[in-house]
Amino acid sequence: MPCKRGLLALTCVAVCLGVVAQTPQERAPVFITAGKLLDARTGQMLSDQAILIAGDRIQEIGPAARVAPHASARSRRINLQSFTVLPGLIDAHAHVLGNLKDLSPLQALRISSAQGALWGAHNMLTWLDHGFTGLRDAGESDPAYGQLALRDSIEKGLVPGPRMASAGNFLSVTGGHGDADVLAADQALPRRPNLADTTDEIAIAARRDIKYGADWIKLMATGGVQDVSSDYNSQELSQEQMAKAVEIAHRAHKRVMAHAESPEGIKAAVRAGVDSIEHGTMLDEEGATLMAERGTWLVPTLFAFQHLASIGASAGQEEIEAEKTKAILPFQQAAFTRALQHKIRIVFGLDDDPDFLPREFEALVRAGLTPAQALQAATINAAELLGWSKQAGTLDAGKYADLIAVRGDPLADITSMRNVVFVMKGATIMKDTTSDVAAGPRP
Ligand SMILES: [Zn+2]
Repeated sequence: MPCKRGLLALTCVAVCLGVVAQTPQERAPVFITAGKLLDARTGQMLSDQAILIAGDRIQEIGPAARVAPHASARSRRINLQSFTVLPGLIDAHAHVLGNLKDLSPLQALRISSAQGALWGAHNMLTWLDHGFTGLRDAGESDPAYGQLALRDSIEKGLVPGPRMASAGNFLSVTGGHGDADVLAADQALPRRPNLADTTDEIAIAARRDIKYGADWIKLMATGGVQDVSSDYNSQELSQEQMAKAVEIAHRAHKRVMAHAESPEGIKAAVRAGVDSIEHGTMLDEEGATLMAERGTWLVPTLFAFQHLASIGASAGQEEIEAEKTKAILPFQQAAFTRALQHKIRIVFGLDDDPDFLPREFEALVRAGLTPAQALQAATINAAELLGWSKQAGTLDAGKYADLIAVRGDPLADITSMRNVVFVMKGATIMKDTTSDVAAGPRP
């Protein structure tokens, strides 16, 4: 499955790196015509639109008849009239380092930070290939912060990839969901700086992440599913600890995301003032009310548990992890329905191998979002959560020329998101298979 796509991505990278050598100002202006174009603000599909791009930004967008006269003779013309154009997508719950097809809890201990980051550079191509021009790394277990090196290298144009916002390392109690040391007591690793069992310790851990460049602080509010020892029913960090992390992060103009599964852990994280709840798989009525009142975002990551429950103990996943996944899954739909009833703001996040990115759109629609809402979750909503609204999330004059095209109409059939044929990031073409007539729908 990855071979053909990998080749496409690599071909594209070769083309793109040639373009990266030019400054945005040196590039010829671009004039794109779109048969259909999603207005992510309203969720409406517009027809016969055109986009004029100067440098790496959208200069003008609107009805083709209005925009076309402003395109100069030297404009590069791109015809997307047979496709649906959307803003570049944003995945707000990604883990980017390492081999993402290896689910073994030992992986992070078996490879070096350098190897993990090189895997990360490879993984970036898959996010781009699926139309994701932005992502938020939801934390890693890497004392050397490979994800921040990757973010900065993409920003500098050293390697291709989506724009990245990134958490540091998982802040967790000892033995909690973010404790990567799975060894026996008499074989234990030296204690890592992401572990925090007191309020003072979490202040130090949060400050350390910020010192080394994290945009987000990632808290493990409860136990989790994808690990061999924690209990997702248990709150782990205390509300006081989480409030301290929020105080420190917000004072430094950083944001806070909390992995939270069980009702008490979700509520403690919300009361502590976190910006987003990740998963929220067992969200109860009181928690939903609190989130709605405080405007806390929810990144429900629906597909990952559905996928991991279906594969059982394979791909390195341990039996205990598969069992936990099966046990928590029945809570997912009720919690999500509750979130919708309370009009909690939803953001797209996969939390899985990026080859499955289109499946999260399908899971969101199966669970109750309209296709337009699912697309808004990965565009305008995600940009707002990440603080990127002035730069991304909708196609507007002044924003980055981050846009994609798909075959078909995703408002009519959300599986069209499997068929991304064109990806542009900051006016650089990262993928173009629009003329690949042989390319049928993806599996
Ligand atoms: Zn995660």
